[in-house]
Amino acid sequence: MTDVVDAPAAVKPINHWISGRRTTGTSGRTGPVFNPATGEQSGAVDLATTDEVDAAVQAAKQAFPAWRATSLAKRAELFFAIRELFHERREEIAKFLTAEHGKVLSDAMGEVTRGLEVIEFCCGLPHLLKGGMTEQASTGVDVYSIRQPLGVVAGITPFNFPAMVPMWMWAPALACGNTFVLKPSEKDPSASVFTAELLKQAGLPDGVFNVVHGDKVAVDALLEHPDVSAISFVGSTPIAKYVYETATAHGKRCQALGGAKNHMIVLPDADIEMAADAAVSAAYGSAGERCMAVSMLVAVGDAADPLVEAIKQRIPNVKVGDGMDSSSEMGPLITREHRDKVASYIGADDGATVVVDGRDGAPDDGFFLAPTLIDDIKPGMKAYDDEIFGPVLGVTRVDTYEEAVGLINDNPYGNGTAIFTRDGGVARQFQFDVQAGMVGINVPIPVPVAYYSFGGWKASLFGDRHIYGPEGIDFYTRSKVVTSRWPDPATSQVDLGFPQTR
Ligand code: NAD
Repeated sequence: MTDVVDAPAAVKPINHWISGRRTTGTSGRTGPVFNPATGEQSGAVDLATTDEVDAAVQAAKQAFPAWRATSLAKRAELFFAIRELFHERREEIAKFLTAEHGKVLSDAMGEVTRGLEVIEFCCGLPHLLKGGMTEQASTGVDVYSIRQPLGVVAGITPFNFPAMVPMWMWAPALACGNTFVLKPSEKDPSASVFTAELLKQAGLPDGVFNVVHGDKVAVDALLEHPDVSAISFVGSTPIAKYVYETATAHGKRCQALGGAKNHMIVLPDADIEMAADAAVSAAYGSAGERCMAVSMLVAVGDAADPLVEAIKQRIPNVKVGDGMDSSSEMGPLITREHRDKVASYIGADDGATVVVDGRDGAPDDGFFLAPTLIDDIKPGMKAYDDEIFGPVLGVTRVDTYEEAVGLINDNPYGNGTAIFTRDGGVARQFQFDVQAGMVGINVPIPVPVAYYSFGGWKASLFGDRHIYGPEGIDFYTRSKVVTSRWPDPATSQVDLGFPQTR
C-alpha cells in the first residue's frame, strides 16, 4: 500500500473528479507526489475509500443511459472537439508529465502525441461501430449484428505514461458509449485531473468520465464493484495477474497488460552504428521506464565487440538532467526507492561486466541514475531475470540466430522485441518464429500505430484482447445479433416447429 503522509502545507492537493467536478477526498489518507528532478514533494493526492469509489461508479452509472443513447453523429462531433482541445493544450499536459513523472519535455510531448493518435482513431467511431447484415438469410428473414457498450468500465493505469495509457482506455471506451472511472497511478496523478477538466470543457456530459485516486483500496473496490462491467489495467505483471484473476472472478471482462523484458537481437550483418543509435535511444529514453524499452541486447557472433564499443562511446553524450531543461535528453526516475532499486542491479551479478556505471556522473539532487551498460549477462542472473525498469542496458552474447530467438521464446515475458539485420529472409523468419506481441524489424520500439492494437504475449498480457485499435473497440462493446422478419400478413400462419432456415 502507498505510504500515507501528512501533507506539508505548501504541497498541492490533488483531488478526485466525480460528476464533472473536483471532489475533495474524505479518507484522511493522502499519498506524496514528488518532482523527481529535485526530490521535493510537490503534491498530496487523495487516496479514495471504498465509498468514494462507489460515488464515482454511481456517477458513471447515472450518466450511462443518456450517453449510450447519444447519436454516433453527436459523439463523433464531440470527439473531434476533444481532439482539437487536447491538441491545442498538449504542451500543458506534457508539463504535468515532466513535473511529476520526470521524463524530458520533448518525450512528454511525444507521449501526448501518441495518445492523441488514439483519440483521432476514435473520431471514426461511426465506422468503427458498424455491425454486419445479411439480407434474406431465410425467406423474408434478415439477420444483423450490432455493437453495444458494456456500461460502466474502469481503467487502472501505471506511472510511466500518465496521459497516454489512460487515453488508450478512455477514448475507445467513451467512443463506444460506455462511461468511465479512471484510477491513475498515485505517483503522477495530475494529468488525469487535467484530462477530466479538458473533457468537460470540450462538452462531455458530467459523470461520463470520472477520476478516483488511490491505492489497493481503490483498485479492489473497482475490481469487486457489481456495477463495473469491465476493467482495463496496465502495470506490472504481479498486479496485472492479480487484477485479471480478481476482476474475472467477479464476472467482469478484463484486459490486464503487464511487465516486459524486451530483447533486441543484433546480427553480424546489421549496420552496427544504426543498431547502436537505436539501442541507446530505446534503452535510455524516458530513463528506461517504458514497457517497450529495450532492456536486453542479444549480440550475435561478431556483432558483440563493435556494438558494445559503439554504445559505450555514445553514453557520455546523453545529457541527463531536469526534464524542464530543453537540453536534457534523459530525466530522473520516478522515486528515490525505485532509483535505488535500479542501481542495486549494478555489480550485483558475478560474471557480468559493468561497462558503464550510471551511479557515476548522475546529478546529485533528485532521483537520477545515468545510463548504465552491463555486458556478459546470462539467464539466471538477476539483471537478466528481472524487469529492471530503469536506464540499465544488458548485453548477452550468443553464437547463432537460433540461440538468440530461443532466449526470447524461453523468457516469461513477450511484450516487444526487435531484430537488426540487413537480411530480409532472416527478418521474415524472425517475425514467424518469435513469441512476442509486437515485433520491430530495424525498429527498436515497435509500438503499433493507433489503427492496430497494442499488447504482448505470455506474462505481458492477461486476457485475450489487446488494447486500443480494433481490439479495443471489441473489448468495450458486446455484440447482439438480431433476426428479423417482416412477413407479408397475407402469408401469416401458426407454426409451432423450431424455426428453420428457409
Ligand atoms: P504497478 O503495477 O505498481 O501499478 C499499476 C497500477 O496498479 C497503479 O494504478 C497502482 O496504484 C496499482 N497497484 C499497485 N499495487 C497494487 C496492489 N497491490 N493492488 C492493487 N493495485 C495496485 O506498475 P507501475 O510501477 O505503476 O508501472 C510500471 C509497470 O507497468 C512496469 O512493470 C511496466 O512494464 C508496466 N507497463 C506495462 C505496459 C504494457 O503495455 N504492457 C505499459 C506501461 C507500463
